[in-house]
Amino acid sequence: MLLTLVYRSHVSEHVQSASLEGLVAQASIKNEISGITGILLFDGTHFFQLLEGPEDAVDALYSTICRDRRHHNVVELMRDYAPSRRFGNVGMELFDLRKHHEDVVLQAVLDKGTSKYRLTYDDRALQFLCTFVQAREKENYLEILPSGSWSFIADEALKPEVEFIFPEMQDYSFAFQPIVDPLSKEIVSYEATLRGPDGGSPMGYFSQLSRTTIYEADLKSKKLAFALANKMGISNKTLCIKLLPMTLVMVPDAVEFLVQEITANGLVPEQIVVAITENGVITREDKFTAAMKQLKASGMRLAIDDFGAGSAGLLLLTQCQPDKIMIDRNIICDVHTSGPKQAVVQAIIRFCSSLEVSVIATGVEKPEEWMWLDAAGICNFQGELFATPRLNGAPVVAWPEVKQEYQL
Ligand code: C2E
Repeated sequence: MLLTLVYRSHVSEHVQSASLEGLVAQASIKNEISGITGILLFDGTHFFQLLEGPEDAVDALYSTICRDRRHHNVVELMRDYAPSRRFGNVGMELFDLRKHHEDVVLQAVLDKGTSKYRLTYDDRALQFLCTFVQAREKENYLEILPSGSWSFIADEALKPEVEFIFPEMQDYSFAFQPIVDPLSKEIVSYEATLRGPDGGSPMGYFSQLSRTTIYEADLKSKKLAFALANKMGISNKTLCIKLLPMTLVMVPDAVEFLVQEITANGLVPEQIVVAITENGVITREDKFTAAMKQLKASGMRLAIDDFGAGSAGLLLLTQCQPDKIMIDRNIICDVHTSGPKQAVVQAIIRFCSSLEVSVIATGVEKPEEWMWLDAAGICNFQGELFATPRLNGAPVVAWPEVKQEYQL
């Protein structure tokens, strides 16, 4: 299948721009063998390249390109399939935008077009090209340091406490994972996620329950989460608990139960964030809305969990006006290399800022993911890069320290 791949990258300091023409001429010979054609633009700082060819060949070339030290911050912008090439006659044409006016470059690019129905401006690849030539998206080119520029150092002051034991733990338990503000080295919240008796996944525990008992079990389990949080001494931090959205509808007096257990364990409702998962199916909308009102009226706060993973996220956002949203980890994974993920995260940040909803990035595993998200404006993070969930207690947190050679 014919693949069109478009990426953008940042030239490395040691590369002489005078050498580019030679490099492109060499690359063209290799690309011709594997049937790859395309266009390369350079504006003195950034490269923009469009590659077209058989899928396997383009993928293999792109892997090599990503590892090439002559550039960094490589971001894949478009991956699309087409019946024929847009630029079939060109080996690999280079346009240096510093040498030609943008109109000249755009016209030259159009003249190279070989599509059957002449290239038109509603073609996505051409739109990307125009945007780059006209330098229209530059504020979104977030540059980050290499992955090895930070060390992550375990906070010795947060040595794990002994595990706490409660009778309910024969059936289930809770693991705790902090939500952190890494640059101010602050734990802002603890997230409690359910675990089976052997420490296994919550899905394993829930799958043994019937449809009628699952909601009751979901709610009642939170008594143990509050008791553990109390023993851990979470002081003025918030505690994030998870609930299926329908738990608040199906279990009578669910909010009263939560408030009672919160206060019985020396916590206050304002400290509790109830995270409902975007994937949870919501039926009986009127009852759900009433439960949300009751929850907010009690002082507890509301978060939408796994935001972006399901189909109802935007609607839920308009319906229940949460205090926080937690971006799903599948969107966070490799965000630093993916144009589509970056666009989604930037849109989430923009609309959350308009609505004064705070944003948490979840499942952060790589330093580059964190650096990019931080540069985009996110301050609160959950993920194994900082701390892995710990059963029945608080885990140690690793804080980032920039290495000396990268300090300003
Ligand atoms: P979630 O709300 O997205 O919870 C975070 C999950 O991501 C947890 O999995 C956690 O262990 C995992 N995680 C945290 N950091 C990372 C990371 O850096 N990388 C990766 N790959 N994973 C990470 P867990 O505990 O298996 O929970 C899975 C899901 O089960 C949760 O997803 C949540 O939707 C649900 N869940 C957990 N506890 C409860 C609960 O008490 N009630 C309900 N209704 N659902 C729960």
